Amino acid sequence: MSVLTGTTDYTWFYIDGQTAKPDSGETLAVQAAATEERLGSVPVSTERDIDDAVAAARRAFDDPQGWAHWEPTRRQEALERFAVALEKRAQETATRVSLQNGMPIWLAQQFEAGFPALLLRYYSGLVAGTPQEETRDGMLGGRARVIREPVGVVGAVVPWNVPQGITFLKLAPALAAGCTVVLKPAPETVLDAMLMAEAALEAELPPGVLNVVPGGRDVGAHLIAHPGVDKVSFTGSTAAGRAIAETCGRLLRPVTLELGGKSAAIVLDDADLSSTIESFFASTLLNNGQICWLGTRVLAPQHRYQEVVDTVSGLAGSLRIGDPLDESTQIGPLVSSRQRDRVESYIAKGKAEGGRLTVGGGRPEAFDRGWFVQPTVFADVDNNHTIAQEEIFGPVLSVIPYGTEDEAVAIANASDFGLGGSVWTADPERGEAVARRVRTGTIGINAYVNEPTAPFGGVKASGMGREMGPEALHSYQVLKTVYLDASA
Ligand code: NAD
Repeated sequence: MSVLTGTTDYTWFYIDGQTAKPDSGETLAVQAAATEERLGSVPVSTERDIDDAVAAARRAFDDPQGWAHWEPTRRQEALERFAVALEKRAQETATRVSLQNGMPIWLAQQFEAGFPALLLRYYSGLVAGTPQEETRDGMLGGRARVIREPVGVVGAVVPWNVPQGITFLKLAPALAAGCTVVLKPAPETVLDAMLMAEAALEAELPPGVLNVVPGGRDVGAHLIAHPGVDKVSFTGSTAAGRAIAETCGRLLRPVTLELGGKSAAIVLDDADLSSTIESFFASTLLNNGQICWLGTRVLAPQHRYQEVVDTVSGLAGSLRIGDPLDESTQIGPLVSSRQRDRVESYIAKGKAEGGRLTVGGGRPEAFDRGWFVQPTVFADVDNNHTIAQEEIFGPVLSVIPYGTEDEAVAIANASDFGLGGSVWTADPERGEAVARRVRTGTIGINAYVNEPTAPFGGVKASGMGREMGPEALHSYQVLKTVYLDASA
Protein backbone atom coordinates (compact mmCIF):
# COMPACT_ATOMS: atom_id res chain seq x y z
CA MET A 1 0.00 0.00 0.00
CA SER A 2 1.43 3.35 -0.99
CA VAL A 3 2.44 5.59 1.87
CA LEU A 4 1.89 9.27 1.74
CA THR A 5 4.89 11.52 1.34
CA GLY A 6 3.37 14.68 2.73
CA THR A 7 0.17 16.45 3.66
CA THR A 8 -1.39 19.49 2.04
CA ASP A 9 -2.85 22.06 4.40
CA TYR A 10 -4.60 25.00 2.79
CA THR A 11 -5.02 28.28 4.66
CA TRP A 12 -6.95 30.23 2.04
CA PHE A 13 -10.14 30.28 -0.02
CA TYR A 14 -10.47 31.05 -3.71
CA ILE A 15 -12.85 34.02 -3.79
CA ASP A 16 -13.05 36.99 -6.18
CA GLY A 17 -10.16 35.77 -8.34
CA GLN A 18 -7.66 35.66 -5.49
CA THR A 19 -6.75 33.87 -2.31
CA ALA A 20 -8.94 35.06 0.55
CA LYS A 21 -8.35 34.83 4.28
CA PRO A 22 -10.89 32.62 6.08
CA ASP A 23 -13.27 34.26 8.53
CA SER A 24 -12.75 31.60 11.22
CA GLY A 25 -9.92 29.26 12.27
CA GLU A 26 -12.04 26.14 11.86
CA THR A 27 -10.58 23.52 9.53
CA LEU A 28 -11.70 20.31 7.88
CA ALA A 29 -9.31 17.35 7.69
CA VAL A 30 -9.28 14.84 4.83
CA GLN A 31 -8.28 11.19 5.26
CA ALA A 32 -6.94 8.62 2.80
CA ALA A 33 -9.53 5.93 2.04
CA ALA A 34 -6.95 3.13 1.75
CA THR A 35 -4.70 3.94 4.70
CA GLU A 36 -6.78 6.22 6.95
CA GLU A 37 -3.79 8.60 7.01
CA ARG A 38 -4.34 12.33 7.24
CA LEU A 39 -3.99 13.82 3.75
CA GLY A 40 -4.44 17.49 4.54
CA SER A 41 -6.96 20.12 5.50
CA VAL A 42 -8.83 23.19 4.34
CA PRO A 43 -10.52 26.04 6.19
CA VAL A 44 -14.28 25.74 6.67
CA SER A 45 -16.38 28.54 5.18
CA THR A 46 -18.50 30.58 7.53
CA GLU A 47 -21.69 32.33 6.44
CA ARG A 48 -19.59 35.48 6.03
CA ASP A 49 -17.19 33.71 3.65
CA ILE A 50 -20.13 32.39 1.62
CA ASP A 51 -21.66 35.87 1.53
CA ASP A 52 -18.32 37.24 0.26
CA ALA A 53 -18.16 34.56 -2.45
CA VAL A 54 -21.73 35.17 -3.61
CA ALA A 55 -21.16 38.93 -3.58
CA ALA A 56 -18.04 38.48 -5.77
CA ALA A 57 -19.95 36.25 -8.19
CA ARG A 58 -22.82 38.77 -8.22
CA ARG A 59 -20.49 41.71 -9.00
CA ALA A 60 -18.81 39.73 -11.77
CA PHE A 61 -22.14 38.76 -13.29
CA ASP A 62 -23.75 42.20 -12.99
CA ASP A 63 -20.76 44.10 -14.45
CA PRO A 64 -22.07 45.53 -17.75
CA GLN A 65 -18.60 45.04 -19.32
CA GLY A 66 -18.04 41.73 -17.56
CA TRP A 67 -17.97 37.97 -18.19
CA ALA A 68 -21.67 37.64 -19.06
CA HIS A 69 -21.29 40.26 -21.78
CA TRP A 70 -18.00 39.11 -23.28
CA GLU A 71 -17.97 37.73 -26.79
CA PRO A 72 -18.19 33.91 -26.50
CA THR A 73 -14.75 33.61 -28.16
CA ARG A 74 -13.23 35.77 -25.41
CA ARG A 75 -14.73 33.48 -22.75
CA GLN A 76 -13.47 30.54 -24.80
CA GLU A 77 -9.91 31.91 -24.61
CA ALA A 78 -10.13 32.26 -20.83
CA LEU A 79 -11.59 28.77 -20.45
CA GLU A 80 -8.83 27.41 -22.70
CA ARG A 81 -6.27 28.88 -20.28
CA PHE A 82 -8.18 27.18 -17.46
CA ALA A 83 -8.17 23.86 -19.37
CA VAL A 84 -4.41 24.08 -19.92
CA ALA A 85 -3.79 24.90 -16.24
CA LEU A 86 -5.93 21.89 -15.25
CA GLU A 87 -4.04 19.64 -17.67
CA LYS A 88 -0.76 20.67 -16.04
CA ARG A 89 -2.21 19.31 -12.80
CA ALA A 90 -3.89 16.25 -14.32
CA GLN A 91 -1.74 13.58 -12.67
CA GLU A 92 -1.85 15.30 -9.28
CA THR A 93 -5.63 15.65 -9.60
CA ALA A 94 -6.05 11.93 -10.35
CA THR A 95 -3.75 11.00 -7.47
CA ARG A 96 -5.53 13.25 -4.98
CA VAL A 97 -8.94 11.87 -5.94
CA SER A 98 -7.72 8.26 -5.70
CA LEU A 99 -6.18 8.89 -2.30
CA GLN A 100 -9.26 10.64 -0.95
CA ASN A 101 -12.13 8.48 -2.20
CA GLY A 102 -10.49 5.19 -3.24
CA MET A 103 -11.20 5.54 -6.98
CA PRO A 104 -8.82 3.24 -8.93
CA ILE A 105 -6.14 5.45 -10.48
CA TRP A 106 -6.80 4.34 -14.08
CA LEU A 107 -10.39 5.49 -13.68
CA ALA A 108 -9.35 8.74 -11.98
CA GLN A 109 -7.10 9.45 -14.96
CA GLN A 110 -10.17 9.33 -17.24
CA PHE A 111 -12.95 10.80 -15.11
CA GLU A 112 -11.02 13.22 -12.96
CA ALA A 113 -7.92 14.22 -14.91
CA GLY A 114 -9.25 14.01 -18.47
CA PHE A 115 -12.88 15.06 -18.31
CA PRO A 116 -12.63 18.63 -16.93
CA ALA A 117 -10.54 20.06 -19.80
CA LEU A 118 -12.57 18.11 -22.36
CA LEU A 119 -15.83 19.55 -21.01
CA LEU A 120 -14.47 23.11 -20.87
CA ARG A 121 -13.46 22.87 -24.53
CA TYR A 122 -16.71 21.23 -25.58
CA TYR A 123 -18.98 23.82 -23.98
CA SER A 124 -16.94 26.92 -24.78
CA GLY A 125 -16.73 25.69 -28.39
CA LEU A 126 -20.46 25.05 -28.44
CA VAL A 127 -21.27 28.60 -27.31
CA ALA A 128 -18.69 30.17 -29.63
CA GLY A 129 -19.71 28.03 -32.61
CA THR A 130 -23.50 28.11 -32.34
CA PRO A 131 -25.66 31.24 -32.62
CA GLN A 132 -27.17 32.06 -29.24
CA GLU A 133 -30.00 34.07 -30.73
CA GLU A 134 -32.34 33.89 -33.71
CA THR A 135 -34.86 36.14 -35.43
CA ARG A 136 -38.30 34.72 -36.16
CA ASP A 137 -40.82 36.03 -38.63
CA GLY A 138 -44.09 36.20 -36.77
CA MET A 139 -47.65 35.23 -37.77
CA LEU A 140 -48.94 38.75 -37.16
CA GLY A 141 -46.56 40.59 -39.41
CA GLY A 142 -43.91 41.38 -36.80
CA ARG A 143 -40.59 39.78 -36.00
CA ALA A 144 -39.18 38.53 -32.73
CA ARG A 145 -35.58 38.16 -31.61
CA VAL A 146 -35.15 35.16 -29.31
CA ILE A 147 -31.99 35.44 -27.23
CA ARG A 148 -30.35 32.90 -24.90
CA GLU A 149 -28.91 34.83 -21.95
CA PRO A 150 -26.90 33.41 -19.04
CA VAL A 151 -29.16 32.68 -16.06
CA GLY A 152 -26.92 34.46 -13.52
CA VAL A 153 -25.04 33.41 -10.39
CA VAL A 154 -24.98 29.62 -10.01
CA GLY A 155 -24.69 27.86 -6.65
CA ALA A 156 -23.18 24.42 -7.37
CA VAL A 157 -23.00 21.64 -4.76
CA VAL A 158 -21.21 18.38 -5.59
CA PRO A 159 -20.56 14.94 -4.00
CA TRP A 160 -17.33 13.02 -3.39
CA ASN A 161 -17.70 10.01 -5.69
CA VAL A 162 -16.54 11.58 -8.99
CA PRO A 163 -15.62 14.99 -7.62
CA GLN A 164 -13.88 16.71 -10.54
CA GLY A 165 -15.92 15.05 -13.29
CA ILE A 166 -19.18 16.10 -11.66
CA THR A 167 -17.86 19.58 -10.82
CA PHE A 168 -17.10 20.21 -14.49
CA LEU A 169 -20.48 18.89 -15.65
CA LYS A 170 -21.67 22.07 -13.93
CA LEU A 171 -18.79 24.54 -14.30
CA ALA A 172 -18.14 23.99 -18.00
CA PRO A 173 -21.64 24.76 -19.35
CA ALA A 174 -22.29 27.44 -16.70
CA LEU A 175 -19.08 29.39 -17.34
CA ALA A 176 -19.32 28.96 -21.12
CA ALA A 177 -22.87 30.33 -21.02
CA GLY A 178 -21.62 33.45 -19.21
CA CYS A 179 -22.78 32.57 -15.70
CA THR A 180 -20.60 33.04 -12.62
CA VAL A 181 -20.33 30.24 -10.06
CA VAL A 182 -19.91 29.59 -6.35
CA LEU A 183 -18.91 25.94 -5.89
CA LYS A 184 -19.23 23.91 -2.71
CA PRO A 185 -17.19 20.70 -2.92
CA ALA A 186 -17.82 17.65 -0.73
CA PRO A 187 -15.79 17.62 2.50
CA GLU A 188 -14.38 14.14 1.76
CA THR A 189 -12.79 15.30 -1.51
CA VAL A 190 -11.96 18.93 -1.03
CA LEU A 191 -8.24 18.69 -1.84
CA ASP A 192 -8.83 18.17 -5.57
CA ALA A 193 -11.19 21.18 -5.51
CA MET A 194 -8.40 23.31 -4.04
CA LEU A 195 -6.03 22.12 -6.78
CA MET A 196 -8.68 23.16 -9.29
CA ALA A 197 -8.77 26.58 -7.57
CA GLU A 198 -4.99 26.81 -8.03
CA ALA A 199 -5.51 26.17 -11.74
CA ALA A 200 -8.17 28.90 -11.88
CA LEU A 201 -5.74 31.32 -10.20
CA GLU A 202 -3.01 30.49 -12.71
CA ALA A 203 -5.47 30.87 -15.61
CA GLU A 204 -6.36 34.35 -14.30
CA LEU A 205 -10.09 33.88 -14.61
CA PRO A 206 -11.62 37.33 -14.02
CA PRO A 207 -12.42 38.16 -10.37
CA GLY A 208 -15.62 36.55 -9.09
CA VAL A 209 -16.26 34.33 -12.12
CA LEU A 210 -15.48 31.22 -10.06
CA ASN A 211 -15.40 30.94 -6.27
CA VAL A 212 -14.93 27.88 -4.03
CA VAL A 213 -16.41 27.58 -0.53
CA PRO A 214 -15.35 24.38 1.28
CA GLY A 215 -17.51 22.96 4.05
CA GLY A 216 -20.25 20.51 4.86
CA ARG A 217 -24.01 20.40 4.61
CA ASP A 218 -24.54 23.74 6.43
CA VAL A 219 -22.35 25.55 3.94
CA GLY A 220 -24.29 23.94 1.06
CA ALA A 221 -27.63 24.85 2.64
CA HIS A 222 -26.61 28.51 3.16
CA LEU A 223 -25.34 28.74 -0.41
CA ILE A 224 -28.37 27.30 -2.19
CA ALA A 225 -30.78 29.54 -0.22
CA HIS A 226 -28.65 32.68 -0.64
CA PRO A 227 -30.58 35.68 -2.03
CA GLY A 228 -27.69 36.42 -4.42
CA VAL A 229 -27.96 33.06 -6.19
CA ASP A 230 -30.07 32.75 -9.36
CA LYS A 231 -29.80 29.02 -10.07
CA VAL A 232 -28.84 25.89 -8.13
CA SER A 233 -27.16 22.82 -9.54
CA PHE A 234 -26.88 19.87 -7.16
CA THR A 235 -25.55 16.34 -7.41
CA GLY A 236 -25.87 14.08 -4.40
CA SER A 237 -28.27 11.95 -2.44
CA THR A 238 -32.02 11.92 -2.99
CA ALA A 239 -32.58 12.96 0.64
CA ALA A 240 -30.47 16.10 0.27
CA GLY A 241 -32.00 16.71 -3.18
CA ARG A 242 -35.50 16.77 -1.68
CA ALA A 243 -34.45 19.34 0.94
CA ILE A 244 -32.81 21.50 -1.74
CA ALA A 245 -35.83 21.18 -4.06
CA GLU A 246 -38.08 22.40 -1.23
CA THR A 247 -35.92 25.46 -0.67
CA CYS A 248 -35.70 26.20 -4.39
CA GLY A 249 -39.46 25.68 -4.76
CA ARG A 250 -40.15 28.23 -2.06
CA LEU A 251 -37.73 30.68 -3.65
CA LEU A 252 -38.94 29.91 -7.23
CA ARG A 253 -35.28 29.28 -8.05
CA PRO A 254 -34.44 27.05 -11.01
CA VAL A 255 -32.63 23.89 -9.93
CA THR A 256 -30.98 20.90 -11.58
CA LEU A 257 -30.94 17.78 -9.40
CA GLU A 258 -28.81 14.70 -10.16
CA LEU A 259 -29.69 12.23 -7.41
CA GLY A 260 -29.50 8.56 -6.50
CA GLY A 261 -30.20 5.45 -8.52
CA LYS A 262 -30.96 1.73 -8.34
CA SER A 263 -30.72 0.82 -11.99
CA ALA A 264 -31.46 -2.50 -13.64
CA ALA A 265 -29.02 -4.53 -15.73
CA ILE A 266 -31.45 -6.66 -17.73
CA VAL A 267 -29.86 -9.88 -18.98
CA LEU A 268 -32.06 -11.18 -21.84
CA ASP A 269 -32.38 -14.90 -22.49
CA ASP A 270 -30.06 -14.75 -25.53
CA ALA A 271 -27.21 -12.91 -23.78
CA ASP A 272 -23.67 -14.24 -23.55
CA LEU A 273 -22.54 -12.31 -20.47
CA SER A 274 -19.08 -13.83 -20.41
CA SER A 275 -18.25 -12.28 -23.81
CA THR A 276 -19.07 -8.78 -22.50
CA ILE A 277 -17.83 -9.24 -18.96
CA GLU A 278 -15.55 -6.17 -18.95
CA SER A 279 -18.41 -3.92 -20.02
CA PHE A 280 -20.63 -5.65 -17.47
CA PHE A 281 -18.08 -4.85 -14.75
CA ALA A 282 -17.93 -1.21 -15.88
CA SER A 283 -21.75 -1.01 -15.83
CA THR A 284 -22.28 -2.56 -12.41
CA LEU A 285 -19.23 -2.31 -10.13
CA LEU A 286 -17.12 0.59 -11.42
CA ASN A 287 -15.53 2.92 -8.85
CA ASN A 288 -16.06 0.38 -6.05
CA GLY A 289 -19.80 0.59 -6.60
CA GLN A 290 -19.83 4.32 -5.83
CA ILE A 291 -21.55 5.66 -8.94
CA CYS A 292 -25.16 6.76 -9.12
CA TRP A 293 -26.03 5.11 -12.49
CA LEU A 294 -24.61 1.61 -11.84
CA GLY A 295 -26.87 -1.36 -12.64
CA THR A 296 -26.98 -2.85 -9.16
CA ARG A 297 -30.12 -4.92 -9.79
CA VAL A 298 -29.18 -7.69 -12.21
CA LEU A 299 -32.34 -9.17 -13.75
CA ALA A 300 -31.81 -12.75 -14.97
CA PRO A 301 -34.18 -15.07 -16.90
CA GLN A 302 -35.49 -17.86 -14.69
CA HIS A 303 -34.31 -20.69 -16.94
CA ARG A 304 -30.73 -19.36 -17.00
CA TYR A 305 -30.78 -18.01 -13.46
CA GLN A 306 -28.07 -20.14 -11.87
CA GLU A 307 -25.76 -19.59 -14.85
CA VAL A 308 -26.09 -15.80 -14.55
CA VAL A 309 -25.60 -15.95 -10.77
CA ASP A 310 -22.43 -18.00 -11.34
CA THR A 311 -21.06 -15.60 -13.97
CA VAL A 312 -21.76 -12.48 -11.88
CA SER A 313 -20.40 -14.14 -8.71
CA GLY A 314 -17.33 -15.33 -10.62
CA LEU A 315 -16.71 -11.78 -11.81
CA ALA A 316 -17.12 -10.26 -8.35
CA GLY A 317 -14.93 -12.91 -6.75
CA SER A 318 -12.13 -12.45 -9.30
CA LEU A 319 -11.70 -8.67 -9.03
CA ARG A 320 -8.36 -7.40 -7.77
CA ILE A 321 -8.93 -5.47 -4.55
CA GLY A 322 -6.13 -3.17 -3.47
CA ASP A 323 -4.32 0.12 -3.33
CA PRO A 324 -6.25 2.57 -5.54
CA LEU A 325 -2.91 4.01 -6.74
CA ASP A 326 -1.87 0.62 -8.16
CA GLU A 327 -2.72 0.54 -11.89
CA SER A 328 -3.87 -3.08 -11.66
CA THR A 329 -6.43 -2.48 -8.90
CA GLN A 330 -10.03 -2.99 -9.96
CA ILE A 331 -11.73 -2.41 -6.61
CA GLY A 332 -10.42 0.11 -4.07
CA PRO A 333 -11.72 1.06 -0.64
CA LEU A 334 -14.92 2.97 0.04
CA VAL A 335 -14.66 6.68 0.73
CA SER A 336 -15.09 6.65 4.51
CA SER A 337 -15.74 4.50 7.55
CA ARG A 338 -19.28 5.95 7.58
CA GLN A 339 -19.83 4.73 4.04
CA ARG A 340 -18.43 1.29 4.89
CA ASP A 341 -20.80 1.08 7.91
CA ARG A 342 -23.68 1.94 5.61
CA VAL A 343 -22.74 -0.71 3.04
CA GLU A 344 -22.19 -3.34 5.74
CA SER A 345 -25.58 -2.59 7.27
CA TYR A 346 -27.20 -3.22 3.87
CA ILE A 347 -25.31 -6.53 3.55
CA ALA A 348 -26.68 -7.55 6.97
CA LYS A 349 -30.17 -6.54 5.90
CA GLY A 350 -29.84 -8.49 2.64
CA LYS A 351 -29.06 -11.64 4.61
CA ALA A 352 -31.83 -10.98 7.14
CA GLU A 353 -34.43 -10.57 4.40
CA GLY A 354 -33.53 -13.92 2.81
CA GLY A 355 -30.99 -13.02 0.11
CA ARG A 356 -28.45 -15.80 -0.58
CA LEU A 357 -24.90 -14.50 -0.36
CA THR A 358 -22.86 -16.11 -3.15
CA VAL A 359 -19.60 -14.19 -2.85
CA GLY A 360 -18.08 -11.48 -0.63
CA GLY A 361 -20.12 -10.05 2.20
CA GLY A 362 -17.23 -9.02 4.43
CA ARG A 363 -13.96 -7.13 4.59
CA PRO A 364 -11.00 -8.50 2.61
CA GLU A 365 -8.52 -10.12 4.97
CA ALA A 366 -5.41 -8.74 3.31
CA PHE A 367 -5.85 -5.21 4.68
CA ASP A 368 -5.65 -4.07 8.27
CA ARG A 369 -6.30 -0.45 7.32
CA GLY A 370 -8.60 1.29 4.88
CA TRP A 371 -12.34 1.12 4.32
CA PHE A 372 -12.46 -1.95 2.09
CA VAL A 373 -15.53 -4.12 1.44
CA GLN A 374 -15.41 -7.24 -0.73
CA PRO A 375 -17.40 -7.17 -3.97
CA THR A 376 -20.60 -8.89 -2.92
CA VAL A 377 -23.38 -10.71 -4.77
CA PHE A 378 -26.77 -11.74 -3.45
CA ALA A 379 -28.90 -14.32 -5.28
CA ASP A 380 -32.59 -15.10 -4.69
CA VAL A 381 -33.36 -11.43 -4.09
CA ASP A 382 -36.95 -10.27 -4.43
CA ASN A 383 -37.35 -6.84 -5.99
CA ASN A 384 -39.23 -5.75 -2.85
CA HIS A 385 -36.25 -6.47 -0.60
CA THR A 386 -34.57 -3.42 0.90
CA ILE A 387 -31.28 -4.14 -0.92
CA ALA A 388 -33.18 -4.10 -4.24
CA GLN A 389 -35.04 -0.88 -3.47
CA GLU A 390 -32.55 1.37 -1.69
CA GLU A 391 -29.31 2.76 -3.03
CA ILE A 392 -26.35 1.07 -1.29
CA PHE A 393 -23.48 2.94 -2.99
CA GLY A 394 -20.95 0.14 -2.59
CA PRO A 395 -19.88 -3.02 -4.48
CA VAL A 396 -23.05 -4.99 -3.81
CA LEU A 397 -25.18 -6.58 -6.56
CA SER A 398 -28.55 -8.33 -6.30
CA VAL A 399 -29.51 -10.93 -8.90
CA ILE A 400 -33.29 -11.03 -9.34
CA PRO A 401 -35.06 -13.74 -11.40
CA TYR A 402 -37.76 -12.97 -13.97
CA GLY A 403 -40.06 -15.07 -16.18
CA THR A 404 -41.00 -13.22 -19.37
CA GLU A 405 -39.50 -10.13 -21.01
CA ASP A 406 -42.58 -8.16 -19.91
CA GLU A 407 -41.87 -9.21 -16.35
CA ALA A 408 -38.25 -8.06 -16.67
CA VAL A 409 -39.43 -4.62 -17.79
CA ALA A 410 -42.00 -4.49 -14.98
CA ILE A 411 -39.33 -5.31 -12.37
CA ALA A 412 -36.91 -2.77 -13.86
CA ASN A 413 -39.65 -0.13 -13.56
CA ALA A 414 -40.72 -1.15 -10.05
CA SER A 415 -38.29 1.28 -8.44
CA ASP A 416 -38.48 4.76 -6.97
CA PHE A 417 -35.44 5.61 -9.09
CA GLY A 418 -34.81 5.95 -12.84
CA LEU A 419 -31.28 7.06 -13.65
CA GLY A 420 -29.27 4.44 -15.60
CA GLY A 421 -29.65 0.87 -16.79
CA SER A 422 -28.44 -1.62 -19.35
CA VAL A 423 -29.75 -4.45 -21.52
CA TRP A 424 -27.55 -7.48 -22.32
CA THR A 425 -28.41 -9.41 -25.45
CA ALA A 426 -27.09 -11.02 -28.64
CA ASP A 427 -29.59 -8.92 -30.61
CA PRO A 428 -28.99 -5.12 -30.35
CA GLU A 429 -32.37 -4.31 -31.96
CA ARG A 430 -34.20 -6.37 -29.40
CA GLY A 431 -32.05 -4.71 -26.76
CA GLU A 432 -33.13 -1.26 -27.91
CA ALA A 433 -36.79 -2.27 -27.97
CA VAL A 434 -36.50 -3.34 -24.32
CA ALA A 435 -34.46 -0.22 -23.43
CA ARG A 436 -37.25 2.00 -24.78
CA ARG A 437 -39.71 0.41 -22.33
CA VAL A 438 -37.65 1.15 -19.21
CA ARG A 439 -38.55 4.33 -17.31
CA THR A 440 -35.12 5.83 -16.92
CA GLY A 441 -33.08 8.83 -18.03
CA THR A 442 -30.26 6.85 -19.65
CA ILE A 443 -29.74 3.21 -20.65
CA GLY A 444 -27.10 1.28 -22.63
CA ILE A 445 -27.08 -1.83 -24.81
CA ASN A 446 -24.32 -4.32 -23.88
CA ALA A 447 -22.43 -1.49 -22.15
CA TYR A 448 -23.10 1.74 -20.30
CA VAL A 449 -20.84 4.63 -21.26
CA ASN A 450 -21.81 8.24 -20.63
CA GLU A 451 -21.48 10.20 -23.85
CA PRO A 452 -20.73 13.88 -23.06
CA THR A 453 -22.65 15.13 -26.11
CA ALA A 454 -25.90 13.39 -25.05
CA PRO A 455 -28.09 14.44 -22.11
CA PHE A 456 -27.65 12.61 -18.79
CA GLY A 457 -30.05 12.69 -15.85
CA GLY A 458 -32.88 10.93 -14.11
CA VAL A 459 -36.61 10.52 -13.76
CA LYS A 460 -38.62 9.92 -10.58
CA ALA A 461 -36.48 10.12 -7.41
CA SER A 462 -33.29 10.25 -9.50
CA GLY A 463 -33.79 13.94 -10.07
CA MET A 464 -34.79 16.54 -12.61
CA GLY A 465 -33.02 18.37 -15.40
CA ARG A 466 -30.15 17.15 -17.54
CA GLU A 467 -26.38 17.45 -17.60
CA MET A 468 -24.13 16.84 -20.63
CA GLY A 469 -25.01 17.70 -24.21
CA PRO A 470 -26.36 21.08 -25.41
CA GLU A 471 -29.28 20.47 -23.02
CA ALA A 472 -26.98 21.21 -20.06
CA LEU A 473 -25.92 24.49 -21.63
CA HIS A 474 -29.58 25.48 -22.01
CA SER A 475 -30.14 24.86 -18.30
CA TYR A 476 -27.72 27.73 -17.57
CA GLN A 477 -29.52 30.06 -19.97
CA VAL A 478 -32.83 31.91 -19.93
CA LEU A 479 -34.76 32.90 -23.01
CA LYS A 480 -35.50 36.53 -23.69
CA THR A 481 -37.81 37.60 -26.51
CA VAL A 482 -37.52 41.08 -28.01
CA TYR A 483 -40.49 42.00 -30.23
CA LEU A 484 -38.79 44.04 -32.93
CA ASP A 485 -40.06 47.35 -34.16
CA ALA A 486 -42.42 46.36 -36.96
CA SER A 487 -41.78 49.63 -38.82
CA ALA A 488 -37.99 49.06 -39.01
P1 NAD B 1 -24.92 13.97 -0.08
O1 NAD B 1 -26.24 14.32 -0.60
O2 NAD B 1 -24.79 13.60 1.35
O3 NAD B 1 -23.90 15.18 -0.30
C1 NAD B 1 -23.67 15.75 -1.58
C2 NAD B 1 -23.21 17.18 -1.41
O4 NAD B 1 -24.28 17.96 -0.90
C3 NAD B 1 -22.06 17.37 -0.42
O5 NAD B 1 -21.26 18.42 -0.88
C4 NAD B 1 -22.78 17.74 0.87
O6 NAD B 1 -21.97 18.48 1.75
C5 NAD B 1 -23.93 18.58 0.32
N1 NAD B 1 -25.17 18.57 1.11
C6 NAD B 1 -25.69 17.56 1.83
N2 NAD B 1 -26.90 17.92 2.33
C7 NAD B 1 -27.14 19.18 1.88
C8 NAD B 1 -28.23 20.11 2.05
N3 NAD B 1 -29.30 19.79 2.76
N4 NAD B 1 -28.14 21.31 1.44
C9 NAD B 1 -27.06 21.64 0.68
N5 NAD B 1 -26.00 20.82 0.52
C10 NAD B 1 -26.03 19.60 1.10
O7 NAD B 1 -24.35 12.83 -1.04
P2 NAD B 1 -22.94 12.10 -0.99
O8 NAD B 1 -23.00 11.04 0.05
O9 NAD B 1 -21.84 13.09 -0.93
O10 NAD B 1 -22.91 11.44 -2.46
C11 NAD B 1 -23.50 10.24 -2.76
C12 NAD B 1 -24.87 10.44 -3.39
O11 NAD B 1 -24.76 11.23 -4.57
C13 NAD B 1 -25.50 9.14 -3.83
O12 NAD B 1 -26.84 9.12 -3.44
C14 NAD B 1 -25.39 9.18 -5.35
O13 NAD B 1 -26.33 8.43 -6.03
C15 NAD B 1 -25.51 10.62 -5.63
N6 NAD B 1 -24.91 10.94 -6.93
C16 NAD B 1 -25.74 11.22 -7.98
C17 NAD B 1 -25.20 11.48 -9.24
C18 NAD B 1 -26.07 11.79 -10.43
O14 NAD B 1 -25.56 12.32 -11.41
N7 NAD B 1 -27.35 11.51 -10.40
C19 NAD B 1 -23.84 11.47 -9.42
C20 NAD B 1 -23.03 11.17 -8.33
C21 NAD B 1 -23.59 10.92 -7.08
